[in-house]
Amino acid sequence: MNRDALIASDRRHLWRPYTSSEDHERFEPLIVERAEGPYLYDAEGRAILDASGSWWCNNLGHRHPRIVEALKRQADTLMHCSFGGSTHETTVALAEELIARAPEGFTRVFFSDNGSAAVEIAAKMAFQYFQQNGQKNRRRFLSLAGSYHGDTIGAMSLGASSAFHAVFDPLKFEVTHAPDPEKMDGADSWENVARFIEETLDAEGDEFAALIVEPIVQGAGGMRIYPASILKRFREAATRAGALLIVDEVFTGYGRTGPFWAVEHAGVIPDLIASAKGLSAGALPFAATLATEEIYDGFRGDKSRALLHGHTFYGNPLGAAIALETLRIYRDERVLEIAKERAAQLKEGMDALGSIDGVSGIRSIGMVAALELGERDYFGERGWRASRRALELGAQIRPLGDTLYLVPPLNIPQDALARLLEIVEASIHESLRG
Ligand SMILES: *Cc1c(COP(=O)(O)O)cnc(C)c1O
Repeated sequence: MNRDALIASDRRHLWRPYTSSEDHERFEPLIVERAEGPYLYDAEGRAILDASGSWWCNNLGHRHPRIVEALKRQADTLMHCSFGGSTHETTVALAEELIARAPEGFTRVFFSDNGSAAVEIAAKMAFQYFQQNGQKNRRRFLSLAGSYHGDTIGAMSLGASSAFHAVFDPLKFEVTHAPDPEKMDGADSWENVARFIEETLDAEGDEFAALIVEPIVQGAGGMRIYPASILKRFREAATRAGALLIVDEVFTGYGRTGPFWAVEHAGVIPDLIASAKGLSAGALPFAATLATEEIYDGFRGDKSRALLHGHTFYGNPLGAAIALETLRIYRDERVLEIAKERAAQLKEGMDALGSIDGVSGIRSIGMVAALELGERDYFGERGWRASRRALELGAQIRPLGDTLYLVPPLNIPQDALARLLEIVEASIHESLRG
């Protein structure tokens, strides 16, 4: 198909994610022909830095040779079989290595195929656990303002992304959300969030099944970073109340914020972990919910006590092969150590961008960085303007409204990251000029 025919067909047949039909018609999509390392290549062979990591999952760059090899090897023997009564070595080996990487006390892995599912599975585990273990009154969930846990109805209920999900309010189940720190006065607004969580759990804790949080960084809420001490207080409050702490590490896991799991910033051990995105190095849909033996034990007994949940592609061997190779690459290529050096470079670059007139805020942690071009408006246009300019200059950067963020591969080469920062600088200058 030539370029025009491809775009015309895309416009006629696709229903694009997060895109208005007007934008679909108005803006030409980037036609990606292939990808390698930190680069996407368009039909003309132009290299474009994939600065949003193909929606935050591309931690090791595109088509890492070992990932490609692992996928081919697995495809040669077994591409899929159900986990109803059967098992296979790749997925078992992955579960073993995942547990070895998990925080202390974690012993069980439940597989699925996307982050929203991994979150909903954690919520169902928490809910059923209490329902069948003598605490039927624990039916409520608590979460943070600005949190994003996925787009399915349960995940939307747990999240609080009003710009994304307001229309579905009548369908959501009731969840108690902490107040938004950005709508509170003072620099200690996260302190107020922690206090709200503590007061709620101290007063009504026996009604709560779980508190769910994105640890340290709230991704879709605008790459908002909060202190480890706050996460620690969430853990302590949940423990005091006898409620579970679910951490949604779908984005923050796999070293995105520095340590392998973001909870390690706070030395916190959660009860359930949702993982996806980087889990399969951003190469195939794959997800996992990790649990402690204590929770697993709560499902022992007769058949009716089982977790009656599962997806067709539970433990899919291709996804598992990639996820297993991913863990090995992290180990063999010292990915977290490389990411630490790149994170320092990223932070330095962001600090410089922070001094540009019109940039109203910058922040970064690990290999996540964000800057504000306005008032935090999800439907704001400045971010999009900057992003369109960046594309012309050779980087694909999807904004969250007026928030521009970077989540490059953890192992992005130094010169590629330097180039990316230059492109960001040039694009925001032009976008701010109007
Ligand atoms: C992306 C994301 C999800 C949803 O994952 P999908 O695979 O898109 O369903 C859930 N939680 C967080 C924190 C995410 O960033």
